[in-house]
Amino acid sequence: MAILAANWKMYKTIAEARAWFGAVAGSPLLGRAQVVVFPPLTALCALRDHAGQIALGAQDVAWADEGAFTGMVSAGQLRDAGCRYALVAHSERRRYAGDNDELAARKIAALWRAGLTPVYCVGEDAGERGAGQGPACIRAQVDTVLDALSGVLGGELVIAYEPVWAIGSGAPATPAQAGDAAALIRERVRERCGPQALGHLSLLYGGSTSAASVPGFMAEPLVDGLLVGSASLDPSSFLAMLEVMVDA
Ligand code: PEP
Repeated sequence: MAILAANWKMYKTIAEARAWFGAVAGSPLLGRAQVVVFPPLTALCALRDHAGQIALGAQDVAWADEGAFTGMVSAGQLRDAGCRYALVAHSERRRYAGDNDELAARKIAALWRAGLTPVYCVGEDAGERGAGQGPACIRAQVDTVLDALSGVLGGELVIAYEPVWAIGSGAPATPAQAGDAAALIRERVRERCGPQALGHLSLLYGGSTSAASVPGFMAEPLVDGLLVGSASLDPSSFLAMLEVMVDA
């Protein structure tokens, strides 16, 4: 089943989050794609009992399971709040909160210990792209994490190719670029973890997607779904994307 994931970043009050779920949670389209929503932490518990077929996720997670880590939230606590997924190393966390590939590996391992599915975000920035370093950047981000995990997947793994230059810019990558990135990531996972790991891997594209761009990305055989920022905030625009996705 295709995945349509909504990253709300630092937007929405609890009331606004509830209103969004009120508009989306009853849609008959939900049985035909896996919808995952990453709300702000403050809204998680309020959404838990209204999620229906929508899976909840967190935008970040601590690498430790428990302890004196003020301000952090563990994977077990996220599970307790109703989460099944968490984003790891989103480019905004890499930029503003010091996340890097080494921390990402520890967060992924923590999520697996708690039975949650990590959505690990990779992708080159504009400078790396301009220097022709896009594939090398993706390869390093994937390899560093898989090596730190000793090439062993401890659960399902979602990797989202989110080129930094495409996020919030209104200029998405082309479907072919997303397909090439997906092929490269799959090849790295096969090389580092073995072919059996591919059965536990899903690949997303994210960066300035909208209903108009859904068919192109979903026509790429290795792209399993989309991670959506801005276009996910309005329930009608998100439902329009979902409708196109299930028809694609
Ligand atoms: C994101 O930040 O994960 C994202 C995909 O944002 P946008 O869709 O707004 O580019």
